[in-house]
Amino acid sequence: MSHDDARKIRLIMSLRGRGITDPAVLGALERVPRDQFVDPAFLDQAWEDRALPIASGQTISQPFIVAFMTQALQLTDRTKVLEIGTGSGYQAAVLAKIARRVYTVERHAELLRRAQAMFDRLKLHNIHTRHGDGWKGWPEQAPFEAIIVTAAAPEVPQELLDQLSEGGRMVAPIGSAGNAQRLVRFVREGESFHEEPLLDVRFVPLVHGVGVPNEAR
Ligand code: SAH
Repeated sequence: MSHDDARKIRLIMSLRGRGITDPAVLGALERVPRDQFVDPAFLDQAWEDRALPIASGQTISQPFIVAFMTQALQLTDRTKVLEIGTGSGYQAAVLAKIARRVYTVERHAELLRRAQAMFDRLKLHNIHTRHGDGWKGWPEQAPFEAIIVTAAAPEVPQELLDQLSEGGRMVAPIGSAGNAQRLVRFVREGESFHEEPLLDVRFVPLVHGVGVPNEAR
């Protein structure tokens, strides 16, 4: 067994010990090569349970948070899921191992280009990407049975909730950058949304509009 395999198994065991019990979620984290999504400078930490920096001042989420949010979405192999904030593409790859189709939106063109190249390389053909403002979702493909927001929204993104199907789940960190953010699950019940606080978290902000090439990092 390689050193990496041992680290990977240790990570999966620790996730299980922390309440990640859905075998599909554990299996997806085991099968997606996180080492290929991290910046090479942090390769030795790819299988540690921590968030790591990626390009454009963004981060790849901590494996526990990826697993926890994925589990909270209650995916099956029939689910159509929308992700806001593609980043490195790691979370989308995990979703793609479980759900039928993944639609993912990123505002940074360069990050999206790299993530798309990785999806091609890993033959994850059920992921569809879009360069755009995630606050607007992907109305042409709505409704979605599941929506995951991987950047913190200072206020509840109503346009995204409106793109949920009946009984659909949205998991999103709500709060402003630097302050307390809470991961919340919203479940659509007709025209209203049942809200359930899950965890305190820290994410980079969900900003408005698309990235411009020379934007400060
Ligand atoms: N899911 C990613 C981590 C995301 S970090 C992964 O697995 O690696 C948050 C991402 O959200 C960043 O890439 C950031 O550029 C993006 N983002 C922030 N605001 C956005 C918006 N309004 N629309 C789309 N993407 C946004």
